[in-house]
Amino acid sequence: MSLSFDPEKLALPFYHFIDGERVAASGGLEMRRPSDDRVFGDCPVADEALVDRAVQAAKKAAKISGWADARPRERVKAMQRWADLMEENALELAQLEAVSSTRPIAQLIEGDIAVTAEQIRFFAEFADKEGSDVVPTSTNSFGMTLTEPYGVVGAITPWNFPISMAGWKLGPALAAGNAVVLKPSEMTPFSTLYMAELAIKAGIPAGMINIVLGDGPTTGNAITGHPDISKVSFTGSTGAGAAIMQNIARTGIKPMTLELGGKSPQVVFADADLDLAAAAISRGILANAGQACVAGSRLIVEAKFAEALSEAIVRHMQNIRPGVTWDEATHYSPIISRRQIGRIDSIVQASIRDGAECITGGAIMDREGYFYTPTLLRVTDDKSPAVTEEIFGPVLTMQTFETEEEALTLADHPIYGLAAGLFTRDLSRAIRFTKALQAGTIWVNRYGRSRDHILPTGGYKSSGIGKDLGREAYLANRKSKSVLIDL
Ligand code: NAD
Repeated sequence: MSLSFDPEKLALPFYHFIDGERVAASGGLEMRRPSDDRVFGDCPVADEALVDRAVQAAKKAAKISGWADARPRERVKAMQRWADLMEENALELAQLEAVSSTRPIAQLIEGDIAVTAEQIRFFAEFADKEGSDVVPTSTNSFGMTLTEPYGVVGAITPWNFPISMAGWKLGPALAAGNAVVLKPSEMTPFSTLYMAELAIKAGIPAGMINIVLGDGPTTGNAITGHPDISKVSFTGSTGAGAAIMQNIARTGIKPMTLELGGKSPQVVFADADLDLAAAAISRGILANAGQACVAGSRLIVEAKFAEALSEAIVRHMQNIRPGVTWDEATHYSPIISRRQIGRIDSIVQASIRDGAECITGGAIMDREGYFYTPTLLRVTDDKSPAVTEEIFGPVLTMQTFETEEEALTLADHPIYGLAAGLFTRDLSRAIRFTKALQAGTIWVNRYGRSRDHILPTGGYKSSGIGKDLGREAYLANRKSKSVLIDL
């Protein structure tokens, strides 16, 4: 069966989802398809009153739905059914995602949806396996640490992997017993709405997942500043993360998990496997056309290996299959918006004017939609904007080094510390480097996370606070209370 579809024939859900019901909405922000630049609707914007309605529904559900207080195994079972329904309805879910996002339909089915369903099952299992502790504190007393859900978690997600990001937020929050008010990106809201409807079918009580559509300044701000939201979980840019911290500081302190931007290095020593490194590095920058928080956008290579490696990477870069996201043959994604492709090109051109050498790419593709050619820039000035800025596009810079010390200095970004790649066959060096690199995730002789959700992910420096995935993400959705009893 072909996965390709006609986006004009798809009925799109322009509504909010509160207390298990669709809430009609109209007007808002113009939406354009990245694949062909067609306007296809307006994303509604929930105001403060509507966000409050969603929060009150979540608060009520957290209290009376029985979700947090029932036998935890019931939570596990409902969430597993939810994951099953996502897989059974994968085609519909993928279509709703592909129509407005940069994710090609085939990758959604094989990747994003299958992996997200697995992650939801992974988080569900914590519900009845993590508990409170009881310890003797002296011969005549004992103490207990009780853990409890926060109540209502406010979640905000970006446009680059909408299904995955919704799974990262909803999975641990629900398993931990919380209700959620989630705002997806105003550019890609449809798949998140559909996931919430499937949750109701799976038996997750109404009100436990509420989706409000809208932008950052109106809807996002109303969520992070709402007094009945007890924890905020955000994924997006470092700038928006800083604005959220300010709003939380102004409106009432609450814990937050922030997964923010990056400018991740891929460090290659001359003893690396050339073909393996070239393939992994190319995937690390070309996946979703570089629109990934962990995009490995800075190649730092031992000078004597640079020519052979760059030639191999160029071959990968020239072997792409761009296309509309609703064509199953498409492998190379469009850029999300006209504004974003303009920003990518202006950083590339400014860097070339400043002395960067363009080895391949460096141009907007001459075709419908927003597509950028995979680009490799050789850069000697470490102040070049191509090296310092998070471009969020298919642009790889190449810098060279002679010594390990030099490689480390180049790898260390002053602001970001999300991820890093390291390619070498020398085990001692791999361990030395892994300890020295300032990044939340380090890949050795590979680049990228696929089904490794058992390990937490999150940033060093201004790339974030706290972790998504792993046991840490579950624990971050519960608070603990110590009780001391004298006998
Ligand atoms: P963005 O920060 O513009 O928007 C992200 C979300 O935040 C959207 O839903 C937006 O409406 C909302 N928002 C914006 N300003 C807000 C505010 N002041 N208050 C509340 N909500 C606000 O980011 P984007 O362009 O959608 O996504 C790309 C960015 O996300 C990149 O910087 C990327 O590195 C980052 N990202 C990080 C991770 C990670 O795990 N660290 C994962 C994916 C994306």
